[in-house]
Amino acid sequence: MQFDHILIRYGEIALKGKNRKKFFLKLQENVQQKLQTFPDVKVKRTQGRMFVLLNGQDPEPIMNTCKNIFGIQSISLAIKVQNDVEEIKDATLFALKNDNHAKTFKVSVKRIDKNFPVRSQDMNQLLGGHLLTNTTDYKVNVHQPDLEIKVEIRTEATYITSSVVPGLGGLPVGTADKSLVLLSGGIDSPVAGYLAMKRGVQLEAIHFHSPPFTSERAKQKVLDLAQKLTYYGSKIKVHVVPFTKLQQHIFREMPEEYAMTIMRRMMLRISEGVCKNESILSMTTGESLGQVASQTMESMNVINEVTNYPILRPLIAMDKEDIIKISKDINTYDISIRPYEDCCTIFVPKSPKTKPKKDKVNYFESRADFSELIEEAIQGIEVVELSAYRKTSEEFDDLF
Ligand code: ATP
Ligand code: MG
Repeated sequence: MQFDHILIRYGEIALKGKNRKKFFLKLQENVQQKLQTFPDVKVKRTQGRMFVLLNGQDPEPIMNTCKNIFGIQSISLAIKVQNDVEEIKDATLFALKNDNHAKTFKVSVKRIDKNFPVRSQDMNQLLGGHLLTNTTDYKVNVHQPDLEIKVEIRTEATYITSSVVPGLGGLPVGTADKSLVLLSGGIDSPVAGYLAMKRGVQLEAIHFHSPPFTSERAKQKVLDLAQKLTYYGSKIKVHVVPFTKLQQHIFREMPEEYAMTIMRRMMLRISEGVCKNESILSMTTGESLGQVASQTMESMNVINEVTNYPILRPLIAMDKEDIIKISKDINTYDISIRPYEDCCTIFVPKSPKTKPKKDKVNYFESRADFSELIEEAIQGIEVVELSAYRKTSEEFDDLF
């Protein structure tokens, strides 16, 4: 005997009223896509349940893949048997023996098929007794069991599930619209992108690059970060903006203490241009209140003035420590701490304004004509399409 199914539970999706169908279909599609590398498995939905049919494949790598798909609340290994007491007994015993940690257990039977001759409560006792007589080390604990074996007797078959493994939660990627994540190469912005995806957002990314002041490796670092993010969603289009000329112009023509504020405003203007061209409805940044000079309330107010697009800031209330923890969990941390500088760390004014004034910024900007340089930057964008997950350059390096 072996586990032949994985049961997928979805939490919040179930609440989505009329959109339910769309959410289920998207989740099924995402699971199917992620499990492509296991050609024999099938993903099925029956009566409000989603299952992966293992068809003899080792469940472990498939469970690990499912654990990282947004929209899945939890998963459990399951065995499907006929509605037959003896078969159910065998499968329940298998599920118990297969768990290496449990010392106590409980059996919970749900009889959905009322034609099944034994009632739930009687079935609980019958199966509990069967497990105790056929094992030596286990005890029953109905209040706080280490393992709850669930037996669901449905019309078409009976499903026996063992321990519940938590998933990532959230909503299936692709059920919210697209957002353009401003990806810097630092620790924060990939985490922000990840958290936006958790709410169903599909990402495109934009990176401002200032060669020769920023190296090819700095760009590769950002592509590697975006590649990591594809693991949680699907393909990501990265827009690499040639930002050198604009930055030089800013630092030459604008008062130094306002250069950072104006540079950020340029980033948002260009990002808005890309959003319009690509029908993207919002932007996402890695800003966190108070973290650095550009992330004070005053700064954000002045920087945000140039666009009406919603800006998602999933990290706004998070501490750096918590952000770092997530970046480690999602394997972007090691890439983010590679030493190559991005355009913001190179063109740093000695004392950026933490409380910039709108009138002043607008006055300074009106004295130099930026519109052509903005247009030129947008025209010069290099688009890199990253398809579904593959290894980053560093992982390839590790192979040699
Ligand atoms: P991060 O860790 O993401 O670099 P940060 O703490 O360094 O963030 P800032 O330098 O103030 O903060 O940048 C704030 C946000 O602006 C970043 O999270 C990112 O979304 C965006 N950003 C900054 N620099 C760039 C860049 N070169 N290209 C694209 N986006 C950028
Ligand atoms: Mg940064």
